[in-house]
Amino acid sequence: DVTATKGNNFEDYLLKRELLMGIYEKGFEAPSPIQEESIPIALTGRDILARAKNGTGKTAAFAIPVLERIDVSKNCIQGMILVPTRELALQTSQVCKELSKHMGVEVVVSTGGTNLRDDILRLGATTHLVVATPGRILDLSRRSVAKLDQCIMLVMDEADKLLSPEFQPVLEQLISYLPEDRQILLYSATFPVTVKQFKEKFLKKPYLINLMDELTLKGVTQFYAFVEERQKVHCLNTLFSKLEINQSIIFCNSVNRVELLAKRITELGYSCFYIHAKMQQSHRNRVFHDFRNGACRNLVSSDLFTRGIDVQSVNVVINFDFPKNAETYLHRVGRSGRFGHLGLAVNLITYDDRFNLYRIEQELGTEIKPIPPTIEKSLY
Ligand code: ADP
Ligand code: MG
Repeated sequence: DVTATKGNNFEDYLLKRELLMGIYEKGFEAPSPIQEESIPIALTGRDILARAKNGTGKTAAFAIPVLERIDVSKNCIQGMILVPTRELALQTSQVCKELSKHMGVEVVVSTGGTNLRDDILRLGATTHLVVATPGRILDLSRRSVAKLDQCIMLVMDEADKLLSPEFQPVLEQLISYLPEDRQILLYSATFPVTVKQFKEKFLKKPYLINLMDELTLKGVTQFYAFVEERQKVHCLNTLFSKLEINQSIIFCNSVNRVELLAKRITELGYSCFYIHAKMQQSHRNRVFHDFRNGACRNLVSSDLFTRGIDVQSVNVVINFDFPKNAETYLHRVGRSGRFGHLGLAVNLITYDDRFNLYRIEQELGTEIKPIPPTIEKSLY
């Protein structure tokens, strides 16, 4: 149980009363282990480099200290939370807004895919905290719309992704806009070389947190079924009829396949949304929002959906197309076992996927078993 603590509670951190109210109103009773480790250190202004698994409460682990350290009487951006995707930016800003509901902190989201002018209008003189994807906020800094010279806190969530080659240069430029004396909080589920390099270059004596010793796919029962490509839809149909799905996410490896599959599923008579990277942003937002609110049972997705997204009611993940690497697998399947919830993952494996299956199993030190004729409901 990830909420099991050493007996600490949120009062121990001597937070502002308004923040504490937000925390309790969100239904958090006690800090999770990553929150226990992060909050007291982050409150002192020290850099943090943290590894913690999916669904353990990282968002509040950085949002709480950042909100606490914001001085609402100063009208300037004091904190910036960077995330790799627009969906995650919206979700994270939502959490910040809820936590700071009584504080008078102005939280603004800024992502690509929306009208630049809207962002310019939104980022008023009274913004205290920005939640952003790197490209757009860099653009706004260059135009001096976002003034980061008093932004003393930078959070990088899903940092391994933020530091991938596509983002790294943008990120380094963004950092050049921050004041010299700034705090950087870095959270990552994996810890590739790029993160190590970043640490050496930009972090000052970071406090290291590593909560990865627990199995990352804990609580998720994983199965595979050998199928031929042309049998996949039939196989999915069988799964739908046999499993007790609360909500499911079905992953495909390409945008085209997402749309095609969603169409097939609808033809089979099951309710289904789809979401992928080539869709218009406003449409993506709406689908994501509606799915979270339970408007639909199944969601077909490309990999844009896999990182950090928290949909607690998803109890089944199906890899209609098997992913190419272990990291993607972990991020896809990690969805269903979040915050102590149980989950089921079913992988459709074609002839070509077989070696990948074995490799990913080895790499993650996990077990993916052949699917039995019946799957006990108590597993998910
Ligand atoms: P991560 O970023 O580590 O994957 P999230 O921050 O998305 O995890 O949190 C996962 C879920 O746990 C969310 O639904 C969040 O509201 C919930 N949660 C976080 N902290 C607590 C807490 N202290 N008590 C209860 N629930 C929590
Ligand atoms: Mg997260």
